[in-house]
Amino acid sequence: MSGGTITSDALVVGGGLLGSAVAYELARRGLAVVLVDRADRGQASAAGAGILSPATSLWGSEDQARFGRLAGEHYGGLVPALEEDGGGPTGYATAPVMAVAEDEEGDSRLDQLLDQARALAIPLEEVSGPEASTLFPLLAKVGRAVVDRRGARVDGRLLTAALQRAAQGRGARVMEGGVDELCLSGPRVVGARAHSLRIDAGAVVLAAGAWLSALQAPLGPEPLVYPMRGQIAHLQWDEGPTASWAVVVAQSGYYLLPWPDGRVVVGATREAGSGLVPELTAGGMAETLAAGLRLAPDLHRARVREWRVGLRPASMDGRPILGAVPGLEGCYLATGHGAGGLLLGPYSARAVAETILSGDDSLIPPGYQARRFAG
Ligand SMILES: Cc1cc2nc3c(=O)[nH]c(=O)nc-3n(C[C@H](O)[C@H](O)[C@H](O)COP(=O)(O)OP(=O)(O)OC[C@H]3O[C@@H](n4cnc5c(N)ncnc54)[C@H](O)[C@@H]3O)c2cc1C
Repeated sequence: MSGGTITSDALVVGGGLLGSAVAYELARRGLAVVLVDRADRGQASAAGAGILSPATSLWGSEDQARFGRLAGEHYGGLVPALEEDGGGPTGYATAPVMAVAEDEEGDSRLDQLLDQARALAIPLEEVSGPEASTLFPLLAKVGRAVVDRRGARVDGRLLTAALQRAAQGRGARVMEGGVDELCLSGPRVVGARAHSLRIDAGAVVLAAGAWLSALQAPLGPEPLVYPMRGQIAHLQWDEGPTASWAVVVAQSGYYLLPWPDGRVVVGATREAGSGLVPELTAGGMAETLAAGLRLAPDLHRARVREWRVGLRPASMDGRPILGAVPGLEGCYLATGHGAGGLLLGPYSARAVAETILSGDDSLIPPGYQARRFAG
């Protein structure tokens, strides 16, 4: 990255799904946007499985459940908009997502999911064990399952690339490199420095994922996010077509995500103490495979195609951190999505963009507002 100064309406720091989606939302509304991404190994968006199913997650409150539902629905408009803007493929497709339980505790969570769905008028269907096996033929015996027929999947790598391409098509400038520090003028963030380049901006959006803490000094002493490592296996099933198989989500947190080309993604560890270390470990690989084979024992015959490892940006209270940073004018956060960023990310980006453009942050539920950390 060469020296000098460039000026923009908005600077986005980090080009994972969140940063790329914010850049796209701002660029399509006519802002001059600069996106700077260091493409760290361990980028969460490049490792994410891609399950999109608000109905099979338990949400903390009604407004968070509503946000989840809107995030799922948001894909219905986003995917065609990206096509129109020349973004290219995203891997998005609807697919049934089936929640199963492996023990009594998991079974009571299935009841909670059904209760939540009834309360929020979200369609969720209870099916018998044999019906569950028709939806995922390799599934171990289960007593019952609940199925989200409106679920979907997406390829995090393709989607992130599509958002960046579409943003560029709308005039955004995408630069490779790392932002070293934010530039302040009194209580206002006025830009950032990336090596010898200074980027002045009316608004600065921090979407640096698990690496946010390195930029955090002006935001306060307490880290807002920490890395939660995920090790995830891509298996290949060659014994028959997988295109119509459902996604399986166990209440233990593990899952099986089939793709039409025979790939079955098995995930994933949730390692809260991993630090910024995007490495596979013997223990993590064993844990992931054991969980996958418990859910579908016949997968022991599958070929191992690939392993991925990503550092999820997990927030201290487990919820996304969105919107204006209290006490730091011109600075916005789009992070903290932990294990749910592929589902929530594009809609979160829309909400953050709306806040920047109009000052209206009503799309962001109070529990997701960055200002909850004020003081
Ligand atoms: C194994 C795994 C499975 C998952 N499965 C799902 C799933 O099925 N469904 C779902 O909804 N979510 C899932 N997730 C979660 C989802 O992937 C994340 O929440 C989401 O991708 C986070 O995106 P992000 O943009 O915030 O962070 P990231 O994708 O990590 O991007 C952050 C970017 O910021 C860059 N950066 C950092 N610091 C700087 C700097 N100073 N200057 C410039 N650039 C910088 C980094 O290099 C990186 O490219 C999964 C995650 C993992 C790891």
